[in-house]
Amino acid sequence: MTDPLPACEPARLTIDLGAIRDNVARLKELSGNAQVMAVVKGDAYGHGLVPSARAALRGGATWLGVAQLAEAVALRDAGIEAPVLSWLHVPGLDFDPAVQRGIDVGVSAPWALQAIADAARRLGRPARVQLKVDTGLARNGAYGADWTELVRAAGPLAAEGALDVVGVFTHFAFADAPEHPTVRAQQEKFADAVRDVERAGFAIEVRHMSNSAATLTQPSAAWDMVRPGLAVYGLSPVPHLGDPASFGLRPAMSATANAALVKRIPAGQGVSYGHTYAPERDTTVVDVPMGYADGVPRAGSNVGPVQVAGKRYTIAGRVCMDQFVVDVGDAAVRAGDPVVLFGAGEDGAPTAQDWAEATGTISYEIVTRMSNRLPRVHLGEQQ
Ligand SMILES: *Cc1c(COP(=O)(O)O)cnc(C)c1O
Repeated sequence: MTDPLPACEPARLTIDLGAIRDNVARLKELSGNAQVMAVVKGDAYGHGLVPSARAALRGGATWLGVAQLAEAVALRDAGIEAPVLSWLHVPGLDFDPAVQRGIDVGVSAPWALQAIADAARRLGRPARVQLKVDTGLARNGAYGADWTELVRAAGPLAAEGALDVVGVFTHFAFADAPEHPTVRAQQEKFADAVRDVERAGFAIEVRHMSNSAATLTQPSAAWDMVRPGLAVYGLSPVPHLGDPASFGLRPAMSATANAALVKRIPAGQGVSYGHTYAPERDTTVVDVPMGYADGVPRAGSNVGPVQVAGKRYTIAGRVCMDQFVVDVGDAAVRAGDPVVLFGAGEDGAPTAQDWAEATGTISYEIVTRMSNRLPRVHLGEQQ
C-alpha cells in the first residue's frame, strides 16, 4: 500500500482506510455483544478525522468518541449522524451546539451539568449527558464524594426535563498491565458507580470503561460498549504483550518521502547541524525532505529508523525542521527514490512502534504528532 509518490510531493502520509475498517471489525469481534465507540480525537490520532470516522463506521462502530466538543461538531458538519460523545470541557464553553447537534456530553463536574441544562432550557430540548466517574486514574471524572454530588445534582435537572442521563463511564489507569491490582479495583468501583446511577432512576443506555488495551486484554470489562482509539488505527497499546498482527490488527498510517538529493562526501565530513555524525569512510548521503515541522521527532537524531530504496538505515546526525540525512554507504540510491519513515512494517520497513522505541515515547505520539504540512492521502475512501 505504499504507492509511489508523485515526484512533486516531497513527503506525505498515506492512510489505509480499509485497515481502519477491518481493525474496527476485529475489535467488534473481540467484544462480544458490546458496541464499539471508535475514538477519533486528535484528528483521529493524526489519521484525518472525517475519513477515519467514516471508515470506522463502515467497520461496524456504532459510536464515535472525541475529547473536545469542536471535534464532535466537525463530525456533524461533515454529515456524520452516528452517536458522538465528547468528554473534555472547560467553564465558559457554549454547549448549545451539543444540544442542537445531538452530541452526548461527558460530564465530570456539577458546573458542566448546569451549563448544559442552561443550553437545553434555551433551546427547549433536553441535553444528552453521560456521567464520568473517576475510579482511580485521578484525571478527568468525578472522584469520591464529588461523584456522589454529581449524581445527586443530575436528579432535579433530569426531573425538570433539561437533561437525560443516558450513560456512565470511566477510564483505566493501567489497562496496559492486565495484572495490575488497579485493573480489578477500578472495575469494582465502576460497578458501584453504575449502581449509583441506576438507583437514581436514570434510563442508562451505555455503561463503558474499556480503552484499546482493555478491549484487547479484559473482555470482562466490556459492559455495553468499548472505547478503543489506538487499536482502531492498527497499533498495539500493549507492545510488550503483542504486536498488531498478533491481535489481528494492521497499521493504517504510512509516512513516506522521496529522496531530494544524493551525494558523495569524504570520510570525516560532519553531517547536519552540529556535526553529531561523521562517516568513517567516504560515503553516499541522502537528503530526505521531512523534518520536525512535519512531525518527525528531533529525538530521532542519530537513532530514528528509516528505509531508503528498500533497505533499512538509521538517521545520520540531527533531524532538522524540513529534512534529515541518511548515510547509505555505497548503495546505489538516486534522488527521487522512495523513503519510508514508518508504515505497516512490510518488507522490513520501520513501524510507528519502532519509532516510539527509538525515541523514548509511545506509538500514540508518533502518529498523532504528524503535522498538517504533510498531505494525507486516504486510500479506499469509496469502499
Ligand atoms: C483517548 C481515550 C480513549 C482511547 O484510548 P486508547 O488507549 O487510544 O484506546 C478512550 N477513552 C477516553 C476517555 C480517552 O480519553
